[in-house]
Amino acid sequence: MTAPAPQNGPSWLLHRPGDPAQVLIRGARVLDPRSDLDATRDVLVRAGEVAEIGESGSVEAPERAEVVEAEGMMLAPAFVDPHVHFRVPGHEHEEDLETGTRAAAAGGYCAVIAMANTEPPVDSAAVLGSVRDKALTEASVPVGFVANVTQGMAGRELTEMAELREAGAIGFSDDGLPIRSARVLRRALQYQRLAGGVIALHEEDPELSAAGVMHEGEVSAVLGLTGVPAVSESTMIARDCSLALYERARIHIQHLSARASVEEIARAKAAEVQVTCEASPHHLTLTDEEVRSLDSRFKMNPPLRTEDDRQALIEGLREGTIDCVATDHAPHAPEEKEVPFEQAAMGVTGLEQAFAVLHTDLVLPGVISMELLVRRMTQGGESFGIPAPRIAPGEPANMALIDLEHEWEVGAGGYESRSPNSCFAGRTLTGRVMMTVAGGQVAFRQRSFAIGAAG
Ligand SMILES: [Zn+2]
Ligand SMILES: [Zn+2]
Repeated sequence: MTAPAPQNGPSWLLHRPGDPAQVLIRGARVLDPRSDLDATRDVLVRAGEVAEIGESGSVEAPERAEVVEAEGMMLAPAFVDPHVHFRVPGHEHEEDLETGTRAAAAGGYCAVIAMANTEPPVDSAAVLGSVRDKALTEASVPVGFVANVTQGMAGRELTEMAELREAGAIGFSDDGLPIRSARVLRRALQYQRLAGGVIALHEEDPELSAAGVMHEGEVSAVLGLTGVPAVSESTMIARDCSLALYERARIHIQHLSARASVEEIARAKAAEVQVTCEASPHHLTLTDEEVRSLDSRFKMNPPLRTEDDRQALIEGLREGTIDCVATDHAPHAPEEKEVPFEQAAMGVTGLEQAFAVLHTDLVLPGVISMELLVRRMTQGGESFGIPAPRIAPGEPANMALIDLEHEWEVGAGGYESRSPNSCFAGRTLTGRVMMTVAGGQVAFRQRSFAIGAAG
């Protein structure tokens, strides 16, 4: 994907250079909401760019191009995830850029944005430079890196935001933690306006969430677990939207989980706050009822909430109050998860299953349309200045070929991610990514998926 970097400035997205894709995809249903296209077509990719789109059977394969017979499959613009954790530097035994981007490619993604709560955190140009360099040799899918808002993620002193921006920070975030002090966030917003790069916010009032391990409600009461009330999130969203409006700054709210949060965003957007937001596949499809199992795979922050909250998220996705889907892919080592629920680490992986989960649970039952799902899964970069990919002549090739009828069991064939903590493990899902072209290169092919060569 081309990154709209400023003249002579850094590229926001980086990956390992390789052979540009030369492939003819024949007879797929090509669905690109932004090109107003939903029809059976042949798509020719030459030198990593979309070269030609024609009626099925009308496009000739150039010599030595790969030919993919894709009748019955869907070809969509590849997805963009604005929120992943790749654990580099410091926790490479849980995920590194190679395994993380392999998981992204297997999920149909052509770009992802990595958070900065690493060890050490990405709070200096030196650390940012080192992860960006790594992406050039290890990433099969273009990765953007946010830098921290505060030094050491301590919430007190701001990082050198302008310098970090110049060094290639695609945005700023202390994700993993909220920015507790309104005074500190206000200063950060003033710098954001000057430096550019949106500030992405993990919203949680630590005074309210305290030692909570799940949603505060009926289920937590029955289980006797400490809860995190929904207002812990929504009150911080209200505060931060007010600050962003006051400072005329841009913010992106991460992983919405509650109805009250969707309502705060709707109010803020109506008041012309420059705010965007995301929701995760797990919050869109699961509720706190899952926690009755005390299975730590259902422990994440923010927690799974009620059916009413889930319905509000779906409605927000439909209406556009929620701009995009983000996985919050958070790999954890087994020893962090295979402990009693209260002690387990928070977070779940998600890149490899996101599309299939939302297709199975929301599109197939008719809750949302395929067109809407593709839209919300492709525009996650927009808040960070990365336009959604398109399938149109002259565009860089960023596309996912998906077999919508393919049934598979999550985890049965292992994971591309180095960590197995998917909350969908064992679920049978419908719809599987067969091939991903990312940044003009073939980044993934399903093992069982045969391709032919022309010429
Ligand atoms: Zn978070
Ligand atoms: Zn996160």
